[in-house]
Amino acid sequence: MPQDNVITIDGPAASGKSTIAQKVADKLGGFYISTGNMYRAITLHAMNSNIDLSSDIFPDRIDKILEKLDLSYSKNADGKLSLMMNGKTADSAIRSPEVAKHVSKIASMENVRAWLIGRQRELASLGTIVMEGRDIGTVIFPDAKYKFFLTASPEVRARRRLAQSGETPEGATVASVAGEIAARDEMDIKRTIAPLKKADDAIFIDSSDMNVEEVVGLIVAHIKGS
Ligand code: C5P
Repeated sequence: MPQDNVITIDGPAASGKSTIAQKVADKLGGFYISTGNMYRAITLHAMNSNIDLSSDIFPDRIDKILEKLDLSYSKNADGKLSLMMNGKTADSAIRSPEVAKHVSKIASMENVRAWLIGRQRELASLGTIVMEGRDIGTVIFPDAKYKFFLTASPEVRARRRLAQSGETPEGATVASVAGEIAARDEMDIKRTIAPLKKADDAIFIDSSDMNVEEVVGLIVAHIKGS
C-alpha cells in the first residue's frame, strides 16, 4: 500500500527544496521537514565536540558523540516543526558555510545514516508530512505515494544560494558558490550508502525557468489530482 500521507522531495544542493517543501506543506496543512538540517546538526555537534572534520573521521568517535545528542523535531507555537538539539532550537549556526563544507562527509557515514533513519521514519506518525533531502523517495520512504525530484541548472542554483543570507562566505561569487555546491553534490551522488538519486517513480522537475509559485502549483496540482 502506498503511504499517502508522505510527500518526498529530493534533489541536489540549493535546488529550492526547502522553500518549495515548506509552501507545499502549508498548502496541504501538513508538516515540512528538512532532513539536511538533521545532518547539519550532527556536523555542528561534531565540530562543537572538537572532532577534526578535515581529516579522517573515525566512526567510533562519532558513535560516542551521538550518544550525547538528543535530536528531534517538535511542534512549536506557530504549529510548525522546530529541530531541537539537546533541548535547544537548532538555529542559523547549522546553515553556516563551515557546516556546509563538512556535512557531506558526515552524511556519507553508515553509522550516522543508521542513527537517523528511524528518527526520520517515525515523523510520518505526525500526519501529512513533506520531507526533503537526498534519499527520501529512495530509502526513507520508498512507498510514499507522492515523490518529486527537484533540480535547476548549476548557475541558477548558485544564484539562489548566494541570495540566502548567512549561507555563503564573505566575498562569495556565483562561480565560488557553484564550485562549493558541485563538490557537495559529487560527494552526495558518489557515496555508496543512500546516494542522491531520483527514485524511479518520482516526478522530475527542472525549476531553472520556473518561479516558486509555479513549482508549488505543479506539485500541489499533482497531489490533488491523483
Ligand atoms: O539539504 P541540505 O543542503 O541542507 O543538506 C545538507 C547535506 O546533508 C547534503 O549535502 C547531504 O550531504 C546531506 N543529506 C543527505 N541525505 C539527506 C539530506 C541531506 O545525505 N536526506
